[in-house]
Amino acid sequence: KYHEQLVELKGNIRVLCRVKPVLKEDQQDEGQAVVVTTDPNNESALTVMSKGKGRTFELDKVFHPQATQDEVFQEIEPLVTSCIDGYHVCIFAYGQTGSGKTYTMEGTVENPGINQRALKHLFSEIEDRKDMWSYSISVSSVEIYNEVLRDLLSKDGEKLDIKLNPDGTGQLHVPGLRVIEMNQHSSRSHALLTITVLGTDLATGAKTTGKLNLVDLAGSERVWKSGAEGERLKEAQNINRSLLALGDVIQALRGRQTHIPFRNSRLTYLLQDSLGKGNKTAMVVQRVCKVELGPAARKIETAGQCEN
Ligand code: ADP
Ligand code: MG
Repeated sequence: KYHEQLVELKGNIRVLCRVKPVLKEDQQDEGQAVVVTTDPNNESALTVMSKGKGRTFELDKVFHPQATQDEVFQEIEPLVTSCIDGYHVCIFAYGQTGSGKTYTMEGTVENPGINQRALKHLFSEIEDRKDMWSYSISVSSVEIYNEVLRDLLSKDGEKLDIKLNPDGTGQLHVPGLRVIEMNQHSSRSHALLTITVLGTDLATGAKTTGKLNLVDLAGSERVWKSGAEGERLKEAQNINRSLLALGDVIQALRGRQTHIPFRNSRLTYLLQDSLGKGNKTAMVVQRVCKVELGPAARKIETAGQCEN
């Protein structure tokens, strides 16, 4: 299938970077300059300037501050589609608090992010295949705070089932998204929205189970540097540990190691059936930058730190 080829070509773990424009409320810390190349044939280089020296990172794709929610989703769409074919997929937003993780995943009412676009896309794809396949979609959502899990959708931990409207009017009703908006999660917790797609081949009865894990990670700022104590320090240590554990898992998967250390955090433990071999992952690294337009490249100064 076209989508499959596209996903295969791009590899099983993709690293994207989204550069957020500096807004009024963003702190203008002393930061390093970042240059994003504008070569149309190379949309994958991010050069970080520090004390006059540049270091270029090769990523799968760099989104400039002007990139729209739709452009970002288009890059993710083949991964979302592959869930209908039974793949397990993880999409992460990583970055410091204020760098745009929640904007990328949840978005706003006027500008919905990946979560809502993914659901909409799944429903329309399923509608297109309804003559040959029947599907049901369920949604669950948890928050991980200090290595403790909390259900964001219901008090009793039940899964929410959304059956497709057989009339197929294209109208979406997704109770999960409304509930998540009501349960604003802290920037010091991970928020995970899992969409499970069960498919049945109407001719043969064959079944597929696809999973889409959409993860708004806890802020990656180095809190302990600011002398945090007590609860704040505990939070920082837990965040640090779980982000490191995730990094270790991704490193191990990229390096094709046989031992993948899933058990080092709740997050990786919970995602182990979606992060392993044969699954697909995209990491959207968020950064806050000040933009200056230039002829060959856009010179950007970071407002935050450049430790991503
Ligand atoms: P985080 O979740 O990483 O802490 P947010 O997603 O809450 O950061 O973003 C911080 C602020 O910046 C929010 O007001 C958000 O609406 C805004 N914002 C984030 N990304 C963008 C963007 N690409 N374009 C415009 N505004 C953005
Ligand atoms: Mg957030």
